[in-house]
Amino acid sequence: MTQTAFIGLGHMGLPMARNLLRAGYPLKVFDLVRSAVDTLAGEGAVAADSAADAIDQAKVVISMLPASRHVEGLYLGDDGLLARLPAGTLVIECSTIAPESARKVHAAARERGIALLDAPVSGGTGGAAAGTLTFMVGGEAQTLEKARPMLAAMGKNIFHAGPEGAGQVAKVCNNQVLAVQMIATAEAMAMGVANGLEPAVLAEIMRQSSGGNWTLEKYNPWPGVMENAPASKGYSGGFMAELMAKDLGLAQETASHSGNSTPMGALALQLYRLLLKQGKGKQDFSVVQQLFVE
Ligand code: NAD
Repeated sequence: MTQTAFIGLGHMGLPMARNLLRAGYPLKVFDLVRSAVDTLAGEGAVAADSAADAIDQAKVVISMLPASRHVEGLYLGDDGLLARLPAGTLVIECSTIAPESARKVHAAARERGIALLDAPVSGGTGGAAAGTLTFMVGGEAQTLEKARPMLAAMGKNIFHAGPEGAGQVAKVCNNQVLAVQMIATAEAMAMGVANGLEPAVLAEIMRQSSGGNWTLEKYNPWPGVMENAPASKGYSGGFMAELMAKDLGLAQETASHSGNSTPMGALALQLYRLLLKQGKGKQDFSVVQQLFVE
């Protein structure tokens, strides 16, 4: 099986890497947080002391980092991984970053003869654990075919969104819709409960009616409605509000680039910034519920 480096073992990267291990891929793993590396080492991965150590002998490199600056910092420049990897290596970059940033990393990879895909994901930590993520892939179709078996070990739906950066464009469009749905669900839950409804009853009515959406299906923001949702675990785990604010900022930049009007996305960004000001950036993004309750 293909020797693989996996860099970035956070909420998403750790369960994704675990699924690759289970599928039999030999992994060398690295994260700035040592305990995450140790966890996977205990499950059969080889622990690396640095990103450079992780890519030694790797034919495939997968990364799952927070934002553009982390990805550019890892891959670009004289000390970056692209300067060290041999031509012919396959890089699958799964973080959600600016489309412009992804294109910059693609260009640097192309210059060195390295095949790179921007392959951001959707499906949350639950999807990452279950191996049912959706991958939105930007890059060459033939590179995607090489990556497909590994993506299939981590996800269920694999879309070729288009050329370099297209995966990131698809991702920011999707997350703008997700944020707007989450906020709409949170404000409706608060209004219904304030007017005497049981949260679980209201949630189920809306889920099965025309207001139904992904947040009502899988991720209700009201504590106690869904046992496994972050809202029922003190808004811990899941997808941090600060990452959602980042994605909404990327959506606004993307809209500015093309001259599109995105008033719902703009409002969603402002509400998430408010949450960050309240010190809730590290909590799951469904904590937006708290803006609407006493
Ligand atoms: P996270 O903050 O939990 O994990 C990121 C990890 O990267 C951390 O463990 C951090 O220590 C590590 N890291 C940062 N810089 C590094 C470096 N230079 N070398 C090695 N490790 C480094 O974030 P996450 O929730 O796992 O999200 C990762 C990406 O996936 C983000 O771009 C996010 O927007 C996207 N995403 C998250 C979710 C979700 O539900 N959490 C869903 C879809 C997409």
